[in-house]
Amino acid sequence: MKTPVLRMAVPGPLRRVFDYLPPAGCDARRLQPGMRLRLPFGRQQRVGVLLELAADSEVPVARLRRAGDLLDETPLLPADLLTLMRWASRYYQHAIGEVVLGSLPALLRQGGAAEIRAEPLWRLSPVGRDLPPERLSRAPKQAALLQTLARWPGGIGADILNTLHRNWRPALARLRDKGWVETVTTAPIPAAPFDAAPALNPDQQTVLEQIGASLDGYRCLLLDGVTGSGKTEVYLRVIRRRLEAGRQVLVLVPEIGLTPQLVQRFRARLPGRIALLHSGLSDRERLNDWLRCARGEADVLIGTRSALFTPLPRLGLIVLDEEHDLSFKQQEGFRYHARDLAIVRARQAGIPVLLGSATPSLESLHNAARGRSQHLLLPQRAGGARRPRLRLLDIRHRRLEQGLSSQLLAAVRQHLEAGNQALLFLNRRGYAPVLMCNDCGWHARCLRCDAHLTVHDQRRLHCHHCDSQRPLDRQCPDCGSQGLQLVGAGTERVEETLAARFPDYPVLRIDRDSTRRKGSLDTLLKQVHSGRPMILVGTQMLAKGHHFPNVTLVGMLDADHGLFSADFRASERMGQLLLQVAGRAGRAEQPGEVLIQTRQPDNPLLQPLLRHDYHGFAQTLLAERAEAQLPPFTRLALLRAECPDPQAALAFLQEARAQAARLAPRLQLFGPLPAPMQRRAGRFRAQLLFQHNQRGELQQGLARLMPELEGMKSARRVRWSIDVDPMEMF
Ligand code: ADP
Ligand code: ZN
Ligand code: ZN
Repeated sequence: MKTPVLRMAVPGPLRRVFDYLPPAGCDARRLQPGMRLRLPFGRQQRVGVLLELAADSEVPVARLRRAGDLLDETPLLPADLLTLMRWASRYYQHAIGEVVLGSLPALLRQGGAAEIRAEPLWRLSPVGRDLPPERLSRAPKQAALLQTLARWPGGIGADILNTLHRNWRPALARLRDKGWVETVTTAPIPAAPFDAAPALNPDQQTVLEQIGASLDGYRCLLLDGVTGSGKTEVYLRVIRRRLEAGRQVLVLVPEIGLTPQLVQRFRARLPGRIALLHSGLSDRERLNDWLRCARGEADVLIGTRSALFTPLPRLGLIVLDEEHDLSFKQQEGFRYHARDLAIVRARQAGIPVLLGSATPSLESLHNAARGRSQHLLLPQRAGGARRPRLRLLDIRHRRLEQGLSSQLLAAVRQHLEAGNQALLFLNRRGYAPVLMCNDCGWHARCLRCDAHLTVHDQRRLHCHHCDSQRPLDRQCPDCGSQGLQLVGAGTERVEETLAARFPDYPVLRIDRDSTRRKGSLDTLLKQVHSGRPMILVGTQMLAKGHHFPNVTLVGMLDADHGLFSADFRASERMGQLLLQVAGRAGRAEQPGEVLIQTRQPDNPLLQPLLRHDYHGFAQTLLAERAEAQLPPFTRLALLRAECPDPQAALAFLQEARAQAARLAPRLQLFGPLPAPMQRRAGRFRAQLLFQHNQRGELQQGLARLMPELEGMKSARRVRWSIDVDPMEMF
């Protein structure tokens, strides 16, 4: 047989594959696509993945280099995933090397061995099993740990304990010292589910009937159910059926949605071994769970966006919760949308994909309307909980106390005194958004961005765009005045105001700053779940996935932000956020109340939302999008360029425009235009927008254009990227 040429995916920005000869002395019959090899690359070594064995190369064979060591005995990536990745690389116009290598756990990407290094497992000893529960009444941590251990008679590892308990190691050590816990060396045994499933309500039954008996073959299902309507219950039923048929299930959740509560609920209900993939894991944990999935040893994989690229040989279903969530779109590097690729993966694998949301994206509603997906509705809350009442508070001409109107404060008092919790939502972290001089009007601005600096902790200034920081000015740098004023309110200041107003109640702030430390969000949530009357103040972190059964009042401090913004998706997001936040109120049997402060009480977009009519709201927006020829009625791609020199960014985009007009004449072009925030981190940013109403046309045009852009001299002076189906327009 003639020596084959190895087409390799190699990490790096170039949109192409690299050809190599097989390693010296290697029997080429051992080589299969999906295996890793070490490669000489320039003067470096890189780890690449074999995509295919070809008969020849465009490069003369004499000039090809030999690959180095073969790192895998069997393919690490199966053929179906390589197909998906090649599709994604073409669709998103991103370098195949980064797509393929980026999908691997870091240890594999660096050339590490594909082996599970098992950690110890623990279980109750015979003495521990017979312990009367009151023996540990004065050591609650140990008692809780014993309860967990009792549920896993076959043994439980650090991975699961990490998701269920904080700082469990000292308690475990004490239990082992007492001889109540022992170490096991066998492989984990699937847990027996220990929570019973509730009987389905009629709406849920209807949905399951619509899904039908057969789960074979590709189908896209959109489960459109208000918050608390029991969507997760439906997922659990469908997942269970797949597990019983011997299939694996992939569950994708938003970044912030992967909470211990969710994992616990899945573990308590599903027979099978659950793997987790998210950013909070160590490299070793990631590798172990990835390999367990790839070898079919895990049955359910719950993960964030990038878990989509995990090999799952028995995959029988993909579930994607909160499908409207922005975190499914990667906003840098390989800018893919995990929802859209989940649909592609399901179609390629011939399996169903179930998308769920209380506030589906306009894209998904549009697909349902065109019959591309099956629209399943859960219009009511499960378990008898009533929906909250939504009301607008007109704050025009009203004096606010740090963003809070007197009506809102009165409502907070009322709910606290009734023994309930109140949640106040404000999408602005920090203490105050602006530091201003009363005498000359100077504002503290970032030196590197077109943006104000936010005051934090009343002592430092922080740029939310480039992360630069400096101490708070004591006097005005322009006129020397001491009269500096903190203008406006962020979550810190609202927290302070409420703490002063309601000294008898705890005020908890939940935002990116207060939850930066690992485990701190958990601690805060535990306090909330104690159920005591208290006030929660937070950003959109609060709007996602949490169940707050004792919250009966939700206040939105500023709904107007989304009503005028440069981004055409802003109003869609405002509506989703509003109903998602509202959905936190009045779970269980307590009816809730939502108060929305606005200066635009007559805005027609707010009216359907007040009636919980998300579909009416979405219809209005869809009509506007159709009129304006915006997605989902048309397809966009955004070419962004940035450079310290504003002229260089524009020159690149102008040349790109000229090339596009020549190579892709059917695409509509808009720009180049300066980005909405023109300067960020010291770079000037500009963009060129491509549009066509057919996906295929846009694809072909971009495919012709990209190699041309890579070769342009002006491209070397700037940082540029292409974003297909951009979710944010800057
Ligand atoms: P969603 O995922 O739509 O927010 P969940 O599945 O989390 O909804 O359900 C919301 C609450 O209602 C949960 O506490 C859940 O246990 C409960 N629930 C769901 N379905 C039922 C049912 N059929 N009967 C009783 N309670 C239910
Ligand atoms: Zn001044
Ligand atoms: Zn900045």
